[in-house]
Amino acid sequence: MDQKVVKKQLKSLFKSMDFVSNNFLGKEKGSAKYAQIYFAIYQQLGLAWEFLGLQCKHRDGYKKTADNIEVCKICGIVRETHDSFVLLSRKGAKTLGMKVKPNSKETFAAKKDAQIINDTMNFHGASLNVDVHNAYKSRLFGTGITMAAERIVTVNEDNIECQINQRLVYVRLGDVDKKAGKKKYGGFPWEISRENLKRFPVIFDFDEKHRLLGLTILR
Ligand SMILES: [Zn+2]
Repeated sequence: MDQKVVKKQLKSLFKSMDFVSNNFLGKEKGSAKYAQIYFAIYQQLGLAWEFLGLQCKHRDGYKKTADNIEVCKICGIVRETHDSFVLLSRKGAKTLGMKVKPNSKETFAAKKDAQIINDTMNFHGASLNVDVHNAYKSRLFGTGITMAAERIVTVNEDNIECQINQRLVYVRLGDVDKKAGKKKYGGFPWEISRENLKRFPVIFDFDEKHRLLGLTILR
C-alpha cells in the first residue's frame, strides 16, 4: 500500500479510537451492556490498527514514549517486539478490561481453576493488581482450608500498599517495616490506651452521627 495512504488512514483511525475512548470508555455513567459494546468496538479498531501497522514501513523513524519504549512515529507500533500488546487510548482515561467479580458458588479444588483474573499493571510508577477468584481449597495450612471467593485490588506506591476487597480496606506502611519490632499487634482504638494511641498519626473523619467517613494517616 502507498505509504501516504497508510499514514492518512492511521491518522483517521487514531481519531476514531480517541473518539470512542474519550466519549464512551472510562465513564462511570451508562449501562454495563453498552460499556461492553464500546469496549468491543475499541478492540476492533485496535485490530485495524495492528493490520495497518503491518503495512507501515516505519519511514519516519521511532520516538520514545514515557515508558522509554521505542514506537514508530507513524503507526505507533512498538519497535522489534514479538510480545502481544493490549491497546490503550493515547489520550484521556485508559480502560483496560472490564470489572469482574467472583462468578460461581462452587468451591474449586485448586486455585488455578478458581482464578478469574490476576493481572498487574505498572502505571506511571504506581503498581496496580487485580486478583479475582472463586472459592477454592487451599493446601497452604495442612489439611486445607476454604479460601473465600474474592475480588482484591492492591495499589502500591512508595512502598505503601493499599488493599481493597469486599470486606475491608487494608493499608500497609512498608517504610515502617524496616524499623518495626519483631511482633505485630492489632486492635480497635478503644482497646488501646490513650497514651499509646497518641503515637499513631491517624485522623478519623466522621459526621455528626459519628459515622466513619474516612481516615488519614500522616507520613
Ligand atoms: Zn510504522
